[in-house]
Amino acid sequence: MEDTIAAIATAYGEGGIGIIRISGENALPILKEVFEMQGTQNEIISRRMNYGKIVDRDRNQLIDEVLAIYMKGPKTYTAEDVVEINCHGSMVSLRKTLALVLRKGARLAEPGEFTKRAFLNGRLDLSQAEAVIDMIQAKTDRGFDVAISQLEGVLSERIAEIRKALLDLLVEITVNIDYPDEDIEIMTYEKLKKNTVLIGDMIEKLLSTADTGRMIREGIRVAIVGKPNVGKSSLMNGLLRETRAIVTEIPGTTRDTIEEVISIRNIPVYLIDTAGIRETSDKVEQLGIEKSKQALNQADFIILILDGSSPLTREDEEIMQHLNDRKLLVLLNKNDLGQELTIEEIQNRFTNGSVIETSLIKGDGIEEIEDTIESLVYQGKVTQQESLMVNNVRHIELLKQAEDSISDALQMIEKREALDFIEIDINHAYELLGEIIGETVSDDIINEVFARFCLGK
Ligand code: GDP
Repeated sequence: MEDTIAAIATAYGEGGIGIIRISGENALPILKEVFEMQGTQNEIISRRMNYGKIVDRDRNQLIDEVLAIYMKGPKTYTAEDVVEINCHGSMVSLRKTLALVLRKGARLAEPGEFTKRAFLNGRLDLSQAEAVIDMIQAKTDRGFDVAISQLEGVLSERIAEIRKALLDLLVEITVNIDYPDEDIEIMTYEKLKKNTVLIGDMIEKLLSTADTGRMIREGIRVAIVGKPNVGKSSLMNGLLRETRAIVTEIPGTTRDTIEEVISIRNIPVYLIDTAGIRETSDKVEQLGIEKSKQALNQADFIILILDGSSPLTREDEEIMQHLNDRKLLVLLNKNDLGQELTIEEIQNRFTNGSVIETSLIKGDGIEEIEDTIESLVYQGKVTQQESLMVNNVRHIELLKQAEDSISDALQMIEKREALDFIEIDINHAYELLGEIIGETVSDDIINEVFARFCLGK
């Protein structure tokens, strides 16, 4: 952290402006070496925007006309001296300016290094730093809201509360171990049990938001399956039209697929392509089935479409074989053409999902599909407004381990084991929760967390 780091902070490509960010002791000296101020002002004052030029004095070359700002630490993003140079949004200007800044003694920042410094300098705890990545990567308004509350410290506060309760317990246990004869309130096992149960409940409550939290953060994968011509494309189009929000196109897990992410009720939904199933010629049928099986395995939720206006076919039966034990919604589509299949009849074949009638050509049923996806995500445990959630795999794992430690401690309390042993488990839970906020965490984990950031953040 001794050196001064620099990076392009804005996204790659053309834009109105592009920003070079510099952080560290030499931020200001480096700015002075590359910047020629214009106008009447002749001194760089902290937190004031300066108009001027970036000039490579060694080569006597003008690089760009810019606005530059110097912010004196510690009240900055990294808690160090920070400089930001607003160049024209051209990659040429940004690259040249960055190269010059590096030549003047800055080191190219690693991904996430600015935020890492904010963490190491104590301006953010680890879960808050992680929230910064989540904000940048959020796919829906809701995902962004949860991330910004975490940045504000909502999760950190709850973790601190639970740790405080654990610490109180530890203090009491220690006093009882160290001064068993003293006239201090003797901790009875009953009281110990009561407090430990309370802590266990707090952890459990937080963990109960984990599934919803993860789904809102990472999205859910929905596979639409059904034989050719039942209405799969019509459903895709219906969902796209209704939500009108293709969030982004990202490469799928297999090299040749592109998945679409849409936002349904603020939940990122990856519609998994089951194109394979549409192939009809015998030669590709096998391949098609393989492909759709893969898609099914990756899905969190499956929508099976049947033609409700005609009897089940062998193809329907084959697809249905693969759907046991999966979270499922069955559509009896084309109900405008008459009713051959009944809800009851199909419902009897699935205990793992519900059945509704639709007419996708008219858009009938889209609401109900969205309702189903929404309740799958929220599970009645979390409300749409709730912003305190755990959604990060690292946090969830640590909470689960802490919960295990607490239940081990409880078992020992039940058996009236020695306080020393119980203390070990309580202390372990305390340490595990400390890892969430980065208080007790190894360098490896810190490096791993920040490696997930983008450059310049
Ligand atoms: P896919 O092969 O499963 O993707 O099916 P499509 O979505 O392409 O639909 C096949 C045909 O069925 C198209 O001509 C659609 O217009 C029609 N179709 C889809 N849904 C309905 C519906 O609810 N009612 C009626 N009458 N036709 C539908």
